[in-house]
Amino acid sequence: MSNSRPEPAWRVLLGYVRPHRRSLAAGALLSLATGATGLALPLVAQDLIASLSEDRAISGALLLMSALVVTNAAVGALGSYVLQRTAESVVLTARRSLTSSLLRLRISAVDATEPGDLLSRATSDTTLLRAMTTQSLVGLGTGGLTLLGTLVMMGLVDLVLLGVTVGVIALASAVLGVIVPMINRASRRAQESVGQMGAALERVLGALRTVKASGAERRERDAVHAAAEESWRQSVRAAKWQALAGNVAGLSMQIAFITVLAVGGARVATDAIDVGALVAFLLYVFYLMAPIQEVVGAITQYQVGAAAIGRIQEVDALPGEPDHSAAPLPAADEEPAAIAFEDVRFQYTPELPYVHHGVTFTVPPRGMTAFVGPSGAGKTTVFSLIERFYDPTDGRVLLDGKDVADWDIAELRAAIGYVEQDAPVLSGTLRENLLFGAPDTAEEALADVLVTTRLDALVARLPEGLDTVVGHRGTKLSGGERQRVAIARALLRRPRLLLLDEATSQLDAVNEAALRDAVTAAARETTVLVVAHRLSTVTSAERIVVMDAGRVLAVGTHSELVSGNPLYAELAATQFLSAVE
Ligand code: ADP
Ligand code: MG
Repeated sequence: MSNSRPEPAWRVLLGYVRPHRRSLAAGALLSLATGATGLALPLVAQDLIASLSEDRAISGALLLMSALVVTNAAVGALGSYVLQRTAESVVLTARRSLTSSLLRLRISAVDATEPGDLLSRATSDTTLLRAMTTQSLVGLGTGGLTLLGTLVMMGLVDLVLLGVTVGVIALASAVLGVIVPMINRASRRAQESVGQMGAALERVLGALRTVKASGAERRERDAVHAAAEESWRQSVRAAKWQALAGNVAGLSMQIAFITVLAVGGARVATDAIDVGALVAFLLYVFYLMAPIQEVVGAITQYQVGAAAIGRIQEVDALPGEPDHSAAPLPAADEEPAAIAFEDVRFQYTPELPYVHHGVTFTVPPRGMTAFVGPSGAGKTTVFSLIERFYDPTDGRVLLDGKDVADWDIAELRAAIGYVEQDAPVLSGTLRENLLFGAPDTAEEALADVLVTTRLDALVARLPEGLDTVVGHRGTKLSGGERQRVAIARALLRRPRLLLLDEATSQLDAVNEAALRDAVTAAARETTVLVVAHRLSTVTSAERIVVMDAGRVLAVGTHSELVSGNPLYAELAATQFLSAVE
């Protein structure tokens, strides 16, 4: 994942904070108020003690003091609640923004990523913005203000001693300037390792049966552990630099104290200032400690958050589709679609060889067109280009004579029903799966499609019928059942173009024959493109496109091709025929 000159992290953070700026300001003000009421306490106490010695009634002062204590606690609690709440809102805003980006990603961008790593960016990295908001934004604000105020007061007492103090602070800042990038780097690596851990876990959990069957649990576990340990190592490293930064801040103040004492003593000796001024100045140096610690804490925490923002920005920088919601499905009376490929050349990435070397074919509306050819010929890629998961490197893909690149992407996809190769069933109920692409389907239409796809018997058998939960990736269904669910899902969209990519490969002979009838019936009303591996599916097609190694070798009917195309004749004689019942 690369990107050109990303926005600085603070600007990204401010973008997330903007919608919550009022509550952030309120939280910061409440924190300041807590500090102020805290500061007032010694004054009241002083008054109280004075009252004691003067034998005045102390009830008034006691009451005031109690009121202050209670107010201080209440304002403190409210302030910290408002701040935490704001920080959580900032995390929510970041998660919303990032997950929108994730769902908009182009398939080509997703190809180059690990889903588990993307997941960690949306869950783990965004969480780090919480501390970044409370500690770095607010800390920098309140700490910075107090620091400035104290420096101004110091300047009023003695400019020379102020110069000494600022000199020490500048020296400490130089040291911090070396430490701070280390925190960023270590945090960044820690988060990258969390991403690798997510990727390693996703790999195991996504293929748990194969992992177990291969006896690979230990090996896979070790890979996950290695990533977790690396994250630990890097986090510990970041913590070390953070602790060091805190110490540099503390030490610098002690050095400032000593230096001020030395220089101030000399100035008192030469009568440049009086002892009172020196004592006052030393008190201010003491007061400087807290805001300096706060500012340094803010800066180090900022580095941790900035590392997370860097990873979030990488996702935002990936190529995405324009933001869109689903377009309405085609009306019943809309004409079926026509498809044409015009000299399409295509490579998945610039580094990879071409998988289409000038593919050309035309498919008129209605009827069934079959794509056959050895695996790796580029059949699935044909469908991917029609759906605009990728754009041709060269040449054009036309739907109804219009370049798919010029279609509104939502309208293009609304016209198509697509059963991808190894189409997944999503976790959820059977009904949710069937209506996934057509949520407004009427019950009767659903019932019809259940019959044509022969799912009615399955539904009758399941304990909760259509509302049965089918498990993650449809693990509670057989391979054939999953395929029929996928086909039903596509049919329910009443598409103007139906794309079936080896959609019946796992069906038994009886179900395959039934589905073939359903597809043949569909082809009377819509345009159907199938990638088929069974001769039985292909023989009834109006047109068969024979592909090999990214080229169209021939287009024709079964009988034309059996005599006219050697590859087809060979395929028909070997691979296909075995599947014919
Ligand atoms: P078919 O469906 O005919 O078996 P495909 O269209 O799936 O063939 O693949 C054609 C070629 O493109 C294959 O060599 C395959 O390895 C490659 N390929 C497929 N998908 C991708 C992808 N997402 N990234 C890179 N290469 C791919
Ligand atoms: Mg394929």
